[in-house]
Parts: sequence; structure tokens; C-alpha cells
Amino acid sequence: MKVALFGPPGAGKGTQARYIVESYKIPQISTGDLLRAQVREGTDLGKMAKEYMDKGALVPNEVVIGMMKERISRDDCRKGFILDGFPRALSQAEALSRIVGLDAVVNITVDTSALIRRITGRRMCGCGATYHVDLNPPGQIGICDRCGGSLYQREDDSEATVKSRLEVYHTQTEPLVEYYRMKGLLKDVDGNRSIEEISSDIVDILAHIEGQ
Ligand code: ADP
Ligand code: ADP
Ligand code: ZN
Repeated sequence: MKVALFGPPGAGKGTQARYIVESYKIPQISTGDLLRAQVREGTDLGKMAKEYMDKGALVPNEVVIGMMKERISRDDCRKGFILDGFPRALSQAEALSRIVGLDAVVNITVDTSALIRRITGRRMCGCGATYHVDLNPPGQIGICDRCGGSLYQREDDSEATVKSRLEVYHTQTEPLVEYYRMKGLLKDVDGNRSIEEISSDIVDILAHIEGQ
């Protein structure tokens, strides 16, 4: 199963990817997570990427494509993978198509007003878990259920940076919706619903693809 989860920042790609990982036992590959790991480790790539991420801009294509090529070629991807946050530009989609063919692109659509709330209320744990201030009872947000770690807010989840990220999504990433629709790979999912309702739709879509 080779799937890409597509959608604007805050649509719920990471949240839904975690459900697929559990059912299909294939890795989630998030370019955002890979880049943040480089930033934390203080590598040259991380230092360069941070300048773009802080502004809400895309990290240069060559860098991201190289990183993804290396990741997809590893052994754990042989049975498939879930891409989360890649491709995000036409040149990335074209480069990907030269490495591997996707079975489906799941497009999670969410109204812009809801996206801003989802992003500014997002809280993260170092273990990869994601929370939201509106979904967790007050007082219980701060500690991770899975590992007990303390939660933090991503620096680029501020209201100011969110606006640039949404703009970048509309100009550079959204054209891929038509690109994948033309290839017959696009599956739209209404993301303006609960996490469970969305994931149930995605499970149905993937079961159908697997049966083909
Ligand atoms: P979101 O939660 O907004 O979908 P991500 O964690 O996927 O955010 O990405 C955070 C930042 O990392 C982006 O704003 C961008 O700077 C960089 N990034 C992530 N994926 C890509 C990509 N495929 N191409 C270029 N830059 C990327
Ligand atoms: P993305 O990876 O697309 O940027 P995330 O999965 O990180 O998005 O979700 C963004 C924020 O919205 C997180 O705080 C997450 O807990 C929350 N969230 C995800 N799905 C939903 C949903 N269906 N309804 C409400 N909040 C959601
Ligand atoms: Zn945790």
C-alpha cells in the first residue's frame, strides 16, 4: 500500500497517518518530522531548512526530494508507506513518480477557518503524538498519554506563520489536486468532521484499493 495523505497544513494528515500505521504496519513518512529531526540535531541540512520553516516557506525541492529518496529506499518501505506532507510541489510529485508509483492520494479537505484553529491549538510530544487544546479537557493538556512526555507548541504554529503556510499551500501545493485527479488517483475525504469519522472513510478507501 503506497499512499500519500494530502491536504492543507492542519488538515489532520499526521493524525490520520497514525491510524493507518496501526492497521497496515507500514511506516509513516512525514517530511515535516524528518526536517524537524534535522533541526533538533543541528545538522547543516537542519540549519538551512529552519530558515524556510520559520517563515512558513517550502524547503528547497532538491533537499526534500533527496531526503525522501533516501527514506523510501530503506527496507521498511518494501511493503509500502504513507507519505504525510510530501509531495508539496509539482516538481516533487514528478520526482516521486520517477522513484515509485502511488496507489492513492487521499485529499483531506477542511475549511480555512477551522484550519487556523487546528494549527494554533496543536500541541506536540517528542514521541510523535499530536494533541489539540480543544480535544483534551483543560488541565489534562500538557502531558502525553502515550509516553508521559511534556507537550510543546511548534514554533511555526503561530498565527502569523500559519497565514504564510496557507498561502504557500494555495499557490504551490494545491495544484497537485488536479495533477493527481487527472491520474485517477485522488480520493477526496471531508475533513470537517471528527477524527473517527474521517478515519473510517479512509479505512474504506484503502480497503477498496487493496481489493483491486
Ligand atoms: P503541516 O503540519 O503544516 O502540514 P509539516 O510538518 O508537514 O506541516 O511541515 C512543516 C514545514 O516543513 C513546512 O512549512 C515546510 O517549511 C517544511 N516542509 C514539510 N514538508 C515539505 C515538503 N514536502 N517540501 C518542502 N518543505 C516541506
Ligand atoms: P497536519 O498533519 O495535516 O498538519 P495534524 O494531524 O497535526 O495535521 O492535525 C492538526 C491539529 O488538529 C492537531 O492538533 C490535531 O489534534 C487536530 N485535529 C486533527 N484532526 C482533527 C479533527 N478531525 N477535528 C478536530 N481536530 C483535529
Ligand atoms: Zn509522547
